[in-house]
Amino acid sequence: MHRYRVTPGEDAQIAARDTRDPQGFSGDKTAGRKAMKVLNAELEALQEVLYAEGKQKVLIVLQAMDTGGKDGTIRHVFDGTNPQGVKVASFKKPTPRELAHDYLWRVHPHTPGSGEIAIFNRSHYEDVLVVRVHDLVPEHRWRPRYDHINAFEKQLTDEGTTILKFFLHISKEEQKERLQARLDEPHKTWKFAKGDLAERQLWGSYIDAYEEALTRTSTDWAPWYVIPADRKWYRNLAISTIIVDTLKELGMEYPDPEEGLDDLVIE
Ligand code: ATP
Ligand code: MG
Repeated sequence: MHRYRVTPGEDAQIAARDTRDPQGFSGDKTAGRKAMKVLNAELEALQEVLYAEGKQKVLIVLQAMDTGGKDGTIRHVFDGTNPQGVKVASFKKPTPRELAHDYLWRVHPHTPGSGEIAIFNRSHYEDVLVVRVHDLVPEHRWRPRYDHINAFEKQLTDEGTTILKFFLHISKEEQKERLQARLDEPHKTWKFAKGDLAERQLWGSYIDAYEEALTRTSTDWAPWYVIPADRKWYRNLAISTIIVDTLKELGMEYPDPEEGLDDLVIE
């Protein structure tokens, strides 16, 4: 799974990457679901010890084209974890108050505290993606942001945060099917936004913006992973595996109990 990592200093080459990886997992959907159950149990246990130990901070950034599957990823990958220690922050169109500040101002308060996992559903990367594609600020304002973002993320990691960033990579064809499903299935129509069609027209500009963003900001301290995401079960499996492997490496332990518990009798 770690081959989905964008090697720092190298081009992300999104367009050359598969949206439907045939080799990553030897099994089929049924085997994938089974493996996912095991991973969910592992993540549940790891998140519990993370919370109990209260030392590590974990930040997970999710970015994708519309219908890319950020919501489904959150639902399935974190299934079974304790909401007390897992916070989701969704970054929508900035409010006037947010726009009156620098673009990282609204982001920092949502970074994880000790013992917490924070999931960013969209993120500060929108400020070099949608902002760039729609010319929301001039280029001389957004171009320095790659460096700011790297510095911001470095500061977070220097202060004890582990950062993982996932780009859920779907094909344009898959997006068409998912948008159509939002129109056709009554319980999905609430998700259909006509504006998504206008964004779809800008697919190429978004890919260009992602290409530069991932190339410039995949760092040793905060790597990007380009996840083949046309198949939802595979996407979940890949992300879950990377998160579980990363958390295992943190060497977390339950805190020592207070002294003298052995002889304690509860009356
Ligand atoms: P779904 O995929 O389920 O539709 P979503 O994340 O697309 O969820 P929406 O409310 O549909 O949520 O869209 C949020 C919108 O906010 C996106 O179009 C995104 O580009 C926009 N947005 C986020 N951050 C910024 C920003 N900094 N500047 C401008 N627009 C932003
Ligand atoms: Mg949307």
